[in-house]
Amino acid sequence: MNQLASGKAWAIRLTQILNKVPGIERFPVDVRALAQDYSRQCFPDPITMVKGEKLDGFEGALFRSKGAKPMWSIVYNDSLSVPGRINFVLAHEFGHYLRHRQELDEFFCSQRDVTQWDREDAARESDANQFASYLLMPIDDFRTQVSGQKIDLDLLGHCADRYGVSLTAATLKWLEFTEQRALLVAAREGYILWAKPSERALKSGAYIRSKGLVVPVPSGSVAGGAFGDSELRAPVALPAGVWFPNEPVTEMTIVSDRFDMTLSLLLLQDQHSVAQLDEEPEEDLLDKMTEGHSSRHTGWRAS
Ligand SMILES: [Zn+2]
Repeated sequence: MNQLASGKAWAIRLTQILNKVPGIERFPVDVRALAQDYSRQCFPDPITMVKGEKLDGFEGALFRSKGAKPMWSIVYNDSLSVPGRINFVLAHEFGHYLRHRQELDEFFCSQRDVTQWDREDAARESDANQFASYLLMPIDDFRTQVSGQKIDLDLLGHCADRYGVSLTAATLKWLEFTEQRALLVAAREGYILWAKPSERALKSGAYIRSKGLVVPVPSGSVAGGAFGDSELRAPVALPAGVWFPNEPVTEMTIVSDRFDMTLSLLLLQDQHSVAQLDEEPEEDLLDKMTEGHSSRHTGWRAS
């Protein structure tokens, strides 16, 4: 492996190595130990320190230590109290080490860097996040965890615990590989911040454009407050016309204190054939999603 391999390729390689180590507690991945052990074994400029420190405005950092011997340190913000957040930040910084340390001597990563995926304006950050995601949550294992079970926030919460990551990170990972039509929608103060669809949802036209737009949360939804202020983790069946014009949705919502926002998992029925509904190539749909020139998608295109 060299530095040119993608973050995802690095993570898959390390996953293969970890899978072969006998007698270790496989999950959650002990990133702190892995970063130091692996870099010591493989590189002349290893990571020799991982610790929490006061880091105003940043979640984590990776920097070359001053001194005669080439060494690196990873620091995470010591105000992070949730282990899942720390683990993801450590993995993100380890990703910078493996991939980018020949480009820069220091990396300071903000909350946006480590939480917003698919950043087009920051290829290094999204690469480090891909690495963290694949290292902490190998898809094969994740599939096994959810196989044959009904998806809800408790099951995804179990996965988040298993992998030592946040519920958001676990849900985004699930959306990457699930065959189900589903979306995760983040909202704050009544407006949608972002909405991530599964591939099937995207291809079938069930997605929400929000980038650069002001898109209110539907008033009849759980996240929109139609069922009171409290969080409703349990599935709520909503009729067509609430989230999408032509189809009902099952919504499960939690309030995330971490970012002062609501997170809604939307599950859609799998009754439509993808090919019939939309012949537009996926690339075009993705372009449209990211262009953000128009408002919320208004449901099914006629086949
Ligand atoms: Zn970063």
